Amino acid sequence: MQQFKQLTNRIWYQTPVSETDRPIVAVITGDERSLVIDAGNSSQHAALFLDEVEKHGLRRPDLVALTHWHWDHIFGMKQMAVPTIATNRTVEEMQKMLDYEWSDEALEDRIRQGIEIPFCADAIKLEFGKERDIEVILPTIRFTGELEISLGGVTCLLRQVENDHSPGSAIVYIPEERVLFLGDAMYADIFSAEWNYTVDQMTRLLDTIAAYEADYYVWSHGEAMTKEAFEQEVHILRQIIEVTQQATGHLSGMQRLYRELVGRELTTDEEETLVFFANGTKK
Ligand SMILES: [Zn+2]
Repeated sequence: MQQFKQLTNRIWYQTPVSETDRPIVAVITGDERSLVIDAGNSSQHAALFLDEVEKHGLRRPDLVALTHWHWDHIFGMKQMAVPTIATNRTVEEMQKMLDYEWSDEALEDRIRQGIEIPFCADAIKLEFGKERDIEVILPTIRFTGELEISLGGVTCLLRQVENDHSPGSAIVYIPEERVLFLGDAMYADIFSAEWNYTVDQMTRLLDTIAAYEADYYVWSHGEAMTKEAFEQEVHILRQIIEVTQQATGHLSGMQRLYRELVGRELTTDEEETLVFFANGTKK
């Protein structure tokens, strides 16, 4: 059951669903306009979100900002029915999807070609069932680098970031509310045969993020993380980057060095992250 929660004075969000890969969809409510972050993974998802917005007496959205092109963040665009903003790089990727069909056969075919992955295909089947009324619509407003949007009393700063998950992703910072929406930028590259993080991209991403003062960091498929919890995540990633470099990407060496560094056995998450960084050195 998805919940609709208030995060700060002007920010509300709908919680994610892992089985169908629904990401967090959030709304920033300004005095003159409101902006939604990501369109949701289907018309149904977007409709549920818009119902919640109405139920809570919030302004109907005027704009949608996409964090990146992955299906789960864009398939609700038609239902949102407002101008959408995305980076040029995101639009480029969406253009490739315009002619796609979404039947089981078409999905299987794209998996064989290495364009689609089972992880997404399975979630699409689960979200849509047999009725796949999917329409890819291209964003109206496109930018490269940075874009500032004034909503009246509150600002959204969109920033294109380097990251392993999806080239051309944007993060969204709301300075007045001290909240940073990360989209999926902190997650691994899941479209390669071996899921991976690279030292270079992750280092640049962490350096970029460090420049923003925030109380909450929102991961699209996770939660709104407090500053303290986020800093702990960053600390772990930086330590793993360090051992990846020291052991030049050799997994057993990385595991040994990391165990020595933290003085305990590794958590499942740390084990997985170490594997992803080891994979990244083989790219
Ligand atoms: Zn994604």
